[in-house]
Amino acid sequence: MPDRSESDSRKLLRRLRDTLAEPGEGQERLDRIVRLIAESMGTEVCSVYLFRDPATLELCATRGLRSEAVHRTRLRLGEGLVGRVARTRRPVNTGDAPGERGFRYMPETGEEIYSSFLGVPIQRLGECRGVLVVQSKSAREFSDDAVYGVEVVAMVLAEMAELGAFAGESEALRRPHQNPVTFRGATGQEGAAEGRVWLHEPRVVVTNPVADDPQAEILRLREAVARLRVSVDDLLKAVDTGDKEQAEVLEAYRMFARSRGWLRRMEENIALGLSAEAAVEKEQSEARARLEHIPDAYLRDRLHDLDDLSNRLLRILTGQGRDTGAAMPDDPVLVARTIGPAELLDYGRKLRGVVLEEGSVGSHAAIITRALAIPLVIHANRITTEALNGDPILVDGDQGVVHLRPEESVAAAFRDKMAMQAEAQKRYASLRSLPAQARCGTVVSLHMNAGLMADLPSLEGSGADGVGLFRTELQFLIRSQVPKRGELAALYARVMDAARGRRVVFRTLDIGSDKVLPYMKRPDEPNPAMGWRAIRVGLDKPGVLRMQLQALIRAAAGRPLAVMFPFVAVPAEFEAARAALLREIDREADLGHVLPARLEIGAMLETPSLAFAPRGFFEMADFVSIGGNDLKQFFFAADRENERVRRRYDTLDTGFLGFVAHVVDRCAQTGTPLSFCGEDAGRPVEAVALAAMGLRMLSMRPASVGPVKHLIRRVDLSAVRAAIETAQAAGEASARSAVNRVLAGLSPG
Ligand code: PEP
Ligand code: MG
Repeated sequence: MPDRSESDSRKLLRRLRDTLAEPGEGQERLDRIVRLIAESMGTEVCSVYLFRDPATLELCATRGLRSEAVHRTRLRLGEGLVGRVARTRRPVNTGDAPGERGFRYMPETGEEIYSSFLGVPIQRLGECRGVLVVQSKSAREFSDDAVYGVEVVAMVLAEMAELGAFAGESEALRRPHQNPVTFRGATGQEGAAEGRVWLHEPRVVVTNPVADDPQAEILRLREAVARLRVSVDDLLKAVDTGDKEQAEVLEAYRMFARSRGWLRRMEENIALGLSAEAAVEKEQSEARARLEHIPDAYLRDRLHDLDDLSNRLLRILTGQGRDTGAAMPDDPVLVARTIGPAELLDYGRKLRGVVLEEGSVGSHAAIITRALAIPLVIHANRITTEALNGDPILVDGDQGVVHLRPEESVAAAFRDKMAMQAEAQKRYASLRSLPAQARCGTVVSLHMNAGLMADLPSLEGSGADGVGLFRTELQFLIRSQVPKRGELAALYARVMDAARGRRVVFRTLDIGSDKVLPYMKRPDEPNPAMGWRAIRVGLDKPGVLRMQLQALIRAAAGRPLAVMFPFVAVPAEFEAARAALLREIDREADLGHVLPARLEIGAMLETPSLAFAPRGFFEMADFVSIGGNDLKQFFFAADRENERVRRRYDTLDTGFLGFVAHVVDRCAQTGTPLSFCGEDAGRPVEAVALAAMGLRMLSMRPASVGPVKHLIRRVDLSAVRAAIETAQAAGEASARSAVNRVLAGLSPG
């Protein structure tokens, strides 16, 4: 099998480009292309297989195999050598195809006489469109140069497919980005939205994969890489934290940008005839394909770095930045691989929904979408590769499902669901001024959780009695440096103004674990959720806590103030934090500032230990709030960020409800007000169960106040309590069925 020189390869690419430029149907083009490749490579066979649907490859053109097999021969993903190439997105090169593991004989093609087989993925940015195969009778593996050359050709085919050059009648020849695609991810934030795609990082479109003048392309590439390196250095200077671990990670990023191997490989791609852009994309595609097969989180992160750098480089080369000139639709659904909290907030209230490839329920993005009250779907694998700006999209945050370019029937069903939800919202709105009073007469006070100014407008609309949890760390998370005392005081004052006399419980800074400040030294901890976080940080490094307490006191200035310390595990921590607050009160008084009219100091119960604290703690605390998200995490030893384990344990577990009853009892003994402010408080069934266990105050996201109130008003809490106790006595693991049975008997209301 002849090895091919660089100039052969360039010639082939140029002829390919010319062929593609000629007018004609997709099928004619493909036929010409396979002929051209077979001739140029000196092989008896050249075939192109394309995906007909995500699980099936179809032979779409061939030179050398029987023409009757075209559009008839199909393989499942992973089936035969072609299916293996598509699944692994790596070449298969063998001198003895029939003897190769997994070989599948397809009599209609007449391929049994060809011993050697080389298949490479037709892929672009890690997205595989099909497989390019060359075959020969002589039993010999193809040389490395030949493999490389065929990969380069496949890359050009992928670019052309992206531009719709092979569009034709057959299903496998459809234009890309046209068909409906459903993504099954996970719920980041409930709700439903219909809109049009707005890509946070728009796709770079390469319209010139083949170049005539390699020298000029290499120069363009080198210039672009030089610019990239300067911009990366600038970027790293700006985020220099002095943190060793972070510095190492950033250094790895810089190293990639300076990697000679990366540049050399891209230059080799150019030497074979690719343009600078296509050369970058080829490397990027391969890195993405590798990414999917690497279990090691650190290495995956490094490959993500490389992906990120490739994107920057492509934007420099093509001049296609974020600002591509496209106008944001008026119903935008943001689609991104991942996004930082500040960037997400920049889009603000314009967004209808957000879809991410990564993320977690506790991520900052999730917190912000909650504040904006828009649905978020996370883990929508590969959506950034499939979606185009302006594509119609439906986001089902309840199910964690996204429909891209949906069929009309799907869209219609979805709209029905949204209409039903809107109907329900109207019903909830009519309850706004009514109390959450159960049939048995018990009144449960419903409050909302907040963390941004953007949350506050919801206070009126939701009918919440106040803010039961104001997460102050969000203000710290969305900035690039520690906010100043004056800024915080002004913000807290605005929050109190917006609450118009309703109680706001400010929780002091809860950082560490999943909430990492970009500008603060992050300790190297094996288990951050159980590490140096929340009040532990506040007590060990009191500077920021003091500053925050001063800001709160000044913001209150003559109004009542409620302060809550997070993650108190033992009474001594609460005593120390409380003493710190009282010291600041004295100091502020000495400075002549107006003091709060009334001061409440509370603790969050987020570790089981605090439920067993001596009575003195409950006497000292002005109130206690159960942080159910963390409490459940430690009760069940199940990481709240880990989707796999998080869902295994039920809040209506009889043991957990028993534990909640114990906390209710401890607080009742000392008359200490108790609330519950984890996510479960906003889930109607869970909320009813908690109220039945004795909780009289629940704090939740604003959108949940209506549904929770609606259910509480229809239910007799003593009947729910009796059902839970019967389940407990019967040794049932969960009280969910028992509670559901009570709820099933309710009138619709
Ligand atoms: C909790 O843990 O339940 C809680 C309300 O705090 P956060 O979710 O901010 O940790
Ligand atoms: Mg917590």
